[in-house]
Amino acid sequence: METLINTLKQEIDEEFIVQNADMAEHTSFKAGGKADLLVIPQDYEQLKFTLQKVADSGLEYYILGNGSNILVKDGGFRGVIIKTLPALQGISVDYEDAEMIVQSGVLLSVAARTAAQNMLAGMEFASGIPGSVGGAAYMNAGAYGGEMKDIITAVRLISRDGQKEYTLTCDEMKYGYRHSVLYKTGDIVVSIMLQLKQDNPHEIFDRMTELNNKRNDKQPVEYPSAGSFFKRPEGYFAGKLIEDAGLRGLTYGGAQVSEKHCGFIINTGNATAQDIVTLMHLVQASVKEQFDVDLEPEVRIIGED
Ligand SMILES: Cc1cc2nc3c(=O)[nH]c(=O)nc-3n(C[C@H](O)[C@H](O)[C@H](O)COP(=O)(O)OP(=O)(O)OC[C@H]3O[C@@H](n4cnc5c(N)ncnc54)[C@H](O)[C@@H]3O)c2cc1C
Repeated sequence: METLINTLKQEIDEEFIVQNADMAEHTSFKAGGKADLLVIPQDYEQLKFTLQKVADSGLEYYILGNGSNILVKDGGFRGVIIKTLPALQGISVDYEDAEMIVQSGVLLSVAARTAAQNMLAGMEFASGIPGSVGGAAYMNAGAYGGEMKDIITAVRLISRDGQKEYTLTCDEMKYGYRHSVLYKTGDIVVSIMLQLKQDNPHEIFDRMTELNNKRNDKQPVEYPSAGSFFKRPEGYFAGKLIEDAGLRGLTYGGAQVSEKHCGFIINTGNATAQDIVTLMHLVQASVKEQFDVDLEPEVRIIGED
């Protein structure tokens, strides 16, 4: 680890190489353990350098976007977490062809607002999802009938070891419900190309406002969480199953099944990652017992107990 840190310091400012980094500060759950090392490259060259050197070191590593779909267990992460924000913040817009290229560190809210300002529609569904473009392209984030795969035409990637840059078409990304080929390859999104549609900006902003008002009405946005905790099981809605199982408000330590939206597990203040994971198991067991349905977490849970 020491050798790696010294190598990284050749290219990256010390303040962006953090030992024993508290991951609660970098995840929307505001809970969980520490990473042995957190590296925050400030531009693409630094990201590439970090990937190469970390891969060479043989240490475990994990890519973090905006941390809105990740829980790091209380025992922490043995290895290196590489945070892709704040590097890769570029956006370019081609109004004539209704295309946009967005780098992976850009927040979805910013990308959607930029599209609307440039009179391009199609990102409204994503404007309230608190993730980065990279995280959203990785897992095909979606809401209100839209998914990233509906607007992505191509994805620019860098291999996990930082050695190879390449492009995949939307088809080659093998997108499915909260799934892409990157779950297998582990490669990293650098930018995405989007096909949008020209439209009246007032109407685009109106649609965005309507969806975000709906989101704020229905979701416990006032509490830390990672959004819908479970994937939608085929033929059901996770939140409805949890509600019907009588689990609304079920609490374990500082973790709670949200009163407002049963699909959310929230941190009521002092939840540990273990509280959240235990509550997840309680919910899974109860739903399995009552409806014989397996709930699979959408949230990525990493690290040690
Ligand atoms: C209040 C709230 C509401 C939410 N609503 C929705 C919703 O409506 N729809 C929805 O789909 N999600 C929703 N989410 C979950 C989350 O915002 C999305 O899944 C989002 O796409 C995650 O992006 P991120 O940058 O935060 O990724 P992270 O949480 O940092 O990472 C998620 C996964 O993506 C990988 N990843 C991140 N960046 C990259 C990259 N550049 N290249 C390759 N892999 C990468 C990580 O390794 C990890 O496996 C919500 C979350 C919250 C807290």
